[in-house]
Amino acid sequence: MAEESIGMPVSSTDFLQFLDISPDALIVINKGGTMIAVNQSVEKLFGYKRAELLGMPLDTLLPVRYRDAHHVHRVHYFENPRPRPMGVGLQLYGLRKDNTEFPVDISLRPLLLDGIVHAIGAVRDMSKQHWAEQELQETHQQLDFLQEQQARYDTFLSMASHELRTPITTLLTIGQMFQRNIERPPLTDPDERAKAIEIAKSALDEMVKQILRMNRLIGDLLDVSRTSTGHLSLILSDFLLDELVSEVVATTQSMATTHTITVEGATCVTIHADRDRIEQVLVNLLNNAIKYSPQTQTIEVLLSTIGESALISVRDHGIGIAKEHQAHLFERYYRLIDDKHKKYAGLGIGLYIAAQIVERHKGKMWVDSEASKGATFTFSLPLSLRERMSP
Ligand code: ADP
Repeated sequence: MAEESIGMPVSSTDFLQFLDISPDALIVINKGGTMIAVNQSVEKLFGYKRAELLGMPLDTLLPVRYRDAHHVHRVHYFENPRPRPMGVGLQLYGLRKDNTEFPVDISLRPLLLDGIVHAIGAVRDMSKQHWAEQELQETHQQLDFLQEQQARYDTFLSMASHELRTPITTLLTIGQMFQRNIERPPLTDPDERAKAIEIAKSALDEMVKQILRMNRLIGDLLDVSRTSTGHLSLILSDFLLDELVSEVVATTQSMATTHTITVEGATCVTIHADRDRIEQVLVNLLNNAIKYSPQTQTIEVLLSTIGESALISVRDHGIGIAKEHQAHLFERYYRLIDDKHKKYAGLGIGLYIAAQIVERHKGKMWVDSEASKGATFTFSLPLSLRERMSP
């Protein structure tokens, strides 16, 4: 060991009296890892009296999980003692007498005391910097989150405008057709008259369809605003859950020519809930199941009870959802934009509203799915809703 690397030899009495000058906590240890000198700052930092520290193993000032590794590092250090920071690139922690941990920065230096190699460590409390860094990191995370929300919201606004404009364009075209026709002289030929009435009828049917579409969309937009502001109120009544499910399935089936919807199992329970809102949840899940399974024909609604809850599941065999996307599905404006999903129109608010309605009923909603393997959306409703929902 070269003497210049470990500094000038000093007598212990000369040296140790100067330790208290330093604002940093200074600890001198011998080769065995025992503290042979400390300054006042160590007392303040670690909460021990100097008399307690002297003769104590340095390990006591480290969290237990670091002690084995520290032992190895110390042995290595004394094999090649030179000035250097400790644990470069690592976050080091100290342990106070009251068992609390705090982040530290440590610089090491060998020290010849009375001809024997020791090590002196300067320990700096890094709590303030550590918290500042953490706060900065959290701020960055919040910024990223807000940026993502903003991007989702922008996409939603443009999709919503598009969804509103489509029915309006159709209504305008039909309206203009009627405007033109009203100027024309009345048709005298009975065949032509019958044909014109037929055209007018289907135009009116289309108008009603588009108005209903707009109405649904506006209803959804209002629901998003209500749920976001906590104003989604429920109108509670007692009803048979299985009966509601049969009704919704029958209505959805009558409009769906591409799929067959079956109901399996039964809950056989009367539930105290908002019937229209529970219907809305089920309609949403069924419409999604139809929309996202264009290549398959069957959809199953599964009914059961478990413990104190009724479970309603809607299972499709469509494009499914990869695991990494599932955590966000029930968030506002979240839509999947991978290759499989982006061709489907939608606003990313249906599942958000559905999950909020279920949550307002003290239930839960979740999904079991894998990419390309279909999806099963389930929601639970507590059976004792009457007691739980009352204020
Ligand atoms: P959207 O109007 O986009 O359908 P939702 O809130 O109903 O909005 O659904 C959010 C996203 O979840 C959808 O964009 C879609 O990517 C995915 N999703 C919902 N239901 C299914 C399903 N049954 N199968 C596969 N993906 C689904």
